[in-house]
Amino acid sequence: MRRQRKPESSLPRPNYETHRQRPGVHPRHRPLPAGQTDLELAREMGLNESDIVKLASNENPLGISPKARAAIERELNDLALYPDGNGFALKMAIAGKLGVALNQIVLGNGSNDVLELAARAFLKPGASAIYAQHALAVYPLATQAVGATGIEVPARDYGHDLDAMLAAIRDDTGMVFIANPNNPTGTLLSAAALHAFLGAVPEHVAVVLDEAYGEFLEPGDRAPSVAWLAEFPNLIVTRTFSKAYGLAGLRVGYALAQADMADLINRVRQPFNVNSLALTAAAAALDDAAFLARSKQVNDAGMAQLIEGFKALGLAWIPSWGNFVCVQVGDAAAVFQTLLRNGVIVRPVANYGLHGYLRVSIGLPEQNARFLSALQGALGK
Ligand SMILES: *Cc1c(COP(=O)(O)O)cnc(C)c1O
Repeated sequence: MRRQRKPESSLPRPNYETHRQRPGVHPRHRPLPAGQTDLELAREMGLNESDIVKLASNENPLGISPKARAAIERELNDLALYPDGNGFALKMAIAGKLGVALNQIVLGNGSNDVLELAARAFLKPGASAIYAQHALAVYPLATQAVGATGIEVPARDYGHDLDAMLAAIRDDTGMVFIANPNNPTGTLLSAAALHAFLGAVPEHVAVVLDEAYGEFLEPGDRAPSVAWLAEFPNLIVTRTFSKAYGLAGLRVGYALAQADMADLINRVRQPFNVNSLALTAAAAALDDAAFLARSKQVNDAGMAQLIEGFKALGLAWIPSWGNFVCVQVGDAAAVFQTLLRNGVIVRPVANYGLHGYLRVSIGLPEQNARFLSALQGALGK
């Protein structure tokens, strides 16, 4: 049986080259190529599935937290029942941890869901949404899905140019998307720059601050975004359990906003948009500080290992604050294919406007070593 594809793709076996060059449609407005499933690739390449190293989707190489696993096992007994449509237990856990009220939380089937719900709540045909060049493809897709117009603002040093984004706001602008750290570039905005931006954005424009990778930051690099909710009625902070918490397969994320804003988003949500296993696992994961700390440790060490490898190979990279890094490899499509043939899956990012780069997710030490050695081979060094 075929495993289900990642949500970032709806295309069977995408051809990475021709697929993004199809005329007439902006490449960002199309689904991304998926990280092929391990099994598919193993079959195609005649490799053992266990020999495949997949560093393509910023997944947690540690797997899931033991506490989340135990919670899932307990929940299995109750799968005949509908989930709690209000997600009370998970909201209590989030509220307790972050000091927000229950009515400030919107739960989603992954934070992708929450991003789309926010777009539905605050955009409409005739409205515009602003996002940066090299930003998550979900932003243009969510914008397009509600018939609104996307405004892509050129990046500055691969990251958000907040001055230019501010200048791009029009009367019809309903929303601005900012990921911090950004994916796929990994760039980080300072709290001061973000705060000044939020202070300057007109109140009728919702600002989505997507903190999918926030848990990988040093505490001193984190913006006090939850505290800012009281100050900015147009701020929506989104977070996910897919990355540092290791629950990508379960699909659960959330948004935080002032109660009125959260209510508007909750109104367009399906009543049971988060399943019971996801709800219970997320609440347990939130409580597993040891696992979160280990995720960050593994990430810090892996990032250092990759950067050392890039230096040794004489390669440039984009400094990243996430659990992935973009490295400049020249003919990225060719290098990607050679890595594939060697059982190493990374992410081509030409469709993000990052020509010549590949994005690699941080893995376990031996996975990072496999990637570096395959990369060295692919580059003929
Ligand atoms: C991975 C990622 C997400 C999380 O997506 P989920 O739907 O929660 O799995 C959100 N935003 C960005 C920028 C991401 O890279």
